[in-house]
Amino acid sequence: MSTSSSPSDRVAELAELLRKYKDAYYNGQTLVSDASYDALEDELRALAPDHAVLKNIGAPVAEVVTEWEKARHAIPMGSLNKAVNETEFRQWAARCDQLGAQSDLPPISNNLLVTEKLDGLSLAVNYENGKLVEAITRGDGHVGERITPNARRMKGVPARLPEPLTVSIRGEIILKLSDMRKGFPGYDAPPRNKAAGTSKRFDGSGCEHLTVMFYDLEGGGIELPTEEAKYERLVELGLIVPPFTVTDLEGALKIHQEYSTKKRAELDYEIDGLVVRANDLRAQHLLGELADRPRAAVAYKFASLAKISRVIAINWETGPTGRVTPIANVEPIEIGGATVQFVVLHNASNVERLGIGVGHEVLVSRRNDVIPHLEEVVVKHGPAATIPTECATCNAPLSRRGEYLVCTNLQCRAIVEGRIRRWVGTQDILELGDKLISQLVEAKLVREPADLYRLKVEDIAGLERRGTTIAKKVLDNLHAKLPLSLPVFLASLGMDDFALETAKLLVANGYDTLEKLHAASAEELAAIKGMGATKAKNVVNGLRARAEEIERLLAVGVVPVAPSAGGALAGKTFCFTGTLPLPRKTYEDLVVKHGGSVLSGVTKDLNYLVMSDPSSASTKAEKARKYGTQCIDDKAFMALIDAAASAAPANEASGGVSSALSGKSVCFTGAQPKKRSDLEKMVTANGGEVRDAVTKGLTYLVMADPGSSSSKAKKAREYGTECIDLATLERIIGEAGGVIDV
Ligand SMILES: [Zn+2]
Repeated sequence: MSTSSSPSDRVAELAELLRKYKDAYYNGQTLVSDASYDALEDELRALAPDHAVLKNIGAPVAEVVTEWEKARHAIPMGSLNKAVNETEFRQWAARCDQLGAQSDLPPISNNLLVTEKLDGLSLAVNYENGKLVEAITRGDGHVGERITPNARRMKGVPARLPEPLTVSIRGEIILKLSDMRKGFPGYDAPPRNKAAGTSKRFDGSGCEHLTVMFYDLEGGGIELPTEEAKYERLVELGLIVPPFTVTDLEGALKIHQEYSTKKRAELDYEIDGLVVRANDLRAQHLLGELADRPRAAVAYKFASLAKISRVIAINWETGPTGRVTPIANVEPIEIGGATVQFVVLHNASNVERLGIGVGHEVLVSRRNDVIPHLEEVVVKHGPAATIPTECATCNAPLSRRGEYLVCTNLQCRAIVEGRIRRWVGTQDILELGDKLISQLVEAKLVREPADLYRLKVEDIAGLERRGTTIAKKVLDNLHAKLPLSLPVFLASLGMDDFALETAKLLVANGYDTLEKLHAASAEELAAIKGMGATKAKNVVNGLRARAEEIERLLAVGVVPVAPSAGGALAGKTFCFTGTLPLPRKTYEDLVVKHGGSVLSGVTKDLNYLVMSDPSSASTKAEKARKYGTQCIDDKAFMALIDAAASAAPANEASGGVSSALSGKSVCFTGAQPKKRSDLEKMVTANGGEVRDAVTKGLTYLVMADPGSSSSKAKKAREYGTECIDLATLERIIGEAGGVIDV
């Protein structure tokens, strides 16, 4: 803009503009496009990275909120009837059928929509002409609080809908478990409580870790025939919805059973039951409401997954990185079909905070983690546990690092064996089990991974209860894994914050040799999207601390290799800006999957800027053109992905198992009989590509009912995509010699 002004004038000018635009935005006015706003913010960040305006992203600057304004819901947010067991659920269904019959409706229980009952906080988000104008909490169902600025920060709440609709969409604010670990490390209580507190914070901090999933849509002159159509409409608008299935009474019971025994525990968020509704909206309407609760819907709850037990002992176990983990040994209890006897207490600070001790009664749950979790100490009988001063394995003094106790004795058996187990476990070396590792360490044959490669058949055969046959097998399996790809090599070392995903991310960003990694600074690595300062520091420190050990591995011939080529988009960089039809994360994942990398702003190194209107005159687009960056729209981007997918089938670092789906793309929709992540794994392992939406060129749309006339299915047929069920997909893979259970 003004080119003659001095940098400090420009800083003041930019800050002033950003404040003005931000205030206007929160008052429902938009003075500039997102793209221009981003560009101004980028410019200010370049001139004054620590400016206060930048620190307050998302929240109004001029005015500090101290109380949320009350707001009335145009359409009240009701609550649901409950069923706590099969009998009550069947009674509800029978009552629906009976009431329906009085209005000449076909049996309602033959046409039900089943979805997850999210354990979060209800939220209504109102859009006018496609623009977000307000977000109101449920409150008492009639009057809630207007937390609009906070809702804007949450994942899954678009500032604009892809269509100019005036609607109220309803959903649930949840805190995913993965986001909880990332955003609130050490937080140990139910995620719902954290979501409740965070969503109402006046400064809005932490709201970026919350997600809103939607399940209802009101107003906007939209006439839809079924509940299913409503969900599909929400998906079309780019909103996140919980999985849903249309089925009959027995089908709903079966789904409830599946969730109770397995699925619920595998989710990345908490649910406390299923919501079952008449799929036919006319039936819902005719059955009406009783005391604000719709008759044609019910919350079918799960049995509680928490029980009280008593602490027998607290053990302090030293792990491969030297960190000491306290573990409570409790009287065995059965929770959700599994016997629980040990509960991880994470770290010393947590033990202090809980004040837990031997003999105390504790509430233990098996939340979605499957891993048992200590909810709280219910009754304290006797004193709290004392924090140990010595390592339980080697008796060396422990030192305190933040929340953790650490054994610093590098000869500690727990550390030595732990590291070997990590090396073997990451590479999945068969026959080399924990017992043999213990024997090898005990016999002083192995102290670190490099020693494994010096072992001879007679070394192993000489151990108690081992013979030549096993010894040969072990060594064959060990050497068969060589050469190791660099990510596997790094992950096998088991350093703090250095899992396989991190290693892959580094390699994808050009750190594809040990030399480059050793030379990298924490600042450099922190700049990679998805790394962050702490992780970057741990990676650099870890590599430094293990440098000599790595040298010794190289000396015995364990030399890591860079993954081949790394996908058709290797070396290409992408930046996404403005509103796009799919969630930004979906696009970013596609880039990474094909070996490219994502940049957060326009720089000289950027190859592609992806935006809805590539001819836009926004500052970002102008800047991109100046640098020679190609500005493309989402369709052109998807074409690049299609080309990449057909150029490089399946050769990811993790290794495709077969090429049965090579060059084919698969999209899953609706509920499936197997876990979604397993299905996606199956597709990639067979050389196929997973897509999140029906796009041109999609090979298969997999759904429970391939004859469905849902809008997704229709769209797929228009594109010539085959609609099939899972059994058919598995048959196709089987016939092509692929693998089904990955
Ligand atoms: Zn020790």
